[in-house]
Amino acid sequence: MKIVMLGAPGAGKGTQAKMIAAKYEIPHISTGDIFRSNIKNGTELGRKAKEYMDQGLLVPDELTVDLVIDRLAQDDCKKGYILDGFPRTIPQAEALDGALAKLSDKLDYAVNVDVPDENIVNRMSGRRACLKCGATYHVVFNPSSKGDVCEVCGDKLVLRDDDKPETVQKRLGVYHDQTQPLIDYYAKQGILKTVDGTQSMDDVFAAITGILEA
Ligand code: ADP
Ligand code: ADP
Ligand code: ZN
Repeated sequence: MKIVMLGAPGAGKGTQAKMIAAKYEIPHISTGDIFRSNIKNGTELGRKAKEYMDQGLLVPDELTVDLVIDRLAQDDCKKGYILDGFPRTIPQAEALDGALAKLSDKLDYAVNVDVPDENIVNRMSGRRACLKCGATYHVVFNPSSKGDVCEVCGDKLVLRDDDKPETVQKRLGVYHDQTQPLIDYYAKQGILKTVDGTQSMDDVFAAITGILEA
């Protein structure tokens, strides 16, 4: 099963992608997590990516596409994967389709988690992230049982710099300009499935598994 998650920043893509990855035993590949771990480890890629991420801008396709295509060539991706945060531009989607076509392969579903802009700022200001293992929480909707510490790995939870309200507005603008066109792109391929992302996490999950198992 090869799945792409679509949706605005904060729509719940990562939350759902982790649950789907666990249920179907496929890898969860998040470009945001890959960039953040590179930043944390002080790599050259991390240094370059951070310049864009801090401004709420997309990291250029040149730094992003090969990274993902290489990741998908690894053994654990043979039986499928769930992509979270990639593709984010039409050229990224075309590069992915091209790489898959070379292997006579294709995506199965593009799942669009639909949440209106009004709900997004709340979601983001309450999001707390573990930069060590990629787990995410919400101070109201999904708090860590260990307070400000990650339930999974024990690292300290943080409010991401790019989740501050000014940067969130910028990221929403970037989403509408550069990423939203992917909804049409995948609709034309006949693989788009939209779920109402304003429901509870469990209800969104049930809607997605209902689609994947239909
Ligand atoms: P969110 O989960 O809130 O949507 P992500 O963790 O997916 O955020 O991404 C954080 C930032 O990382 C983005 O704002 C962007 O700067 C960068 N990024 C992540 N994925 C991509 C991508 N596919 N193309 C370009 N930039 C990306
Ligand atoms: P994305 O990966 O799309 O940026 P996340 O999965 O990180 O989004 O979710 C953004 C924030 O909203 C997180 O703090 C998360 O705990 C919370 N969240 C996710 N799904 C829901 C939901 N259905 N209802 C309420 N809060 C949610
Ligand atoms: Zn953690």
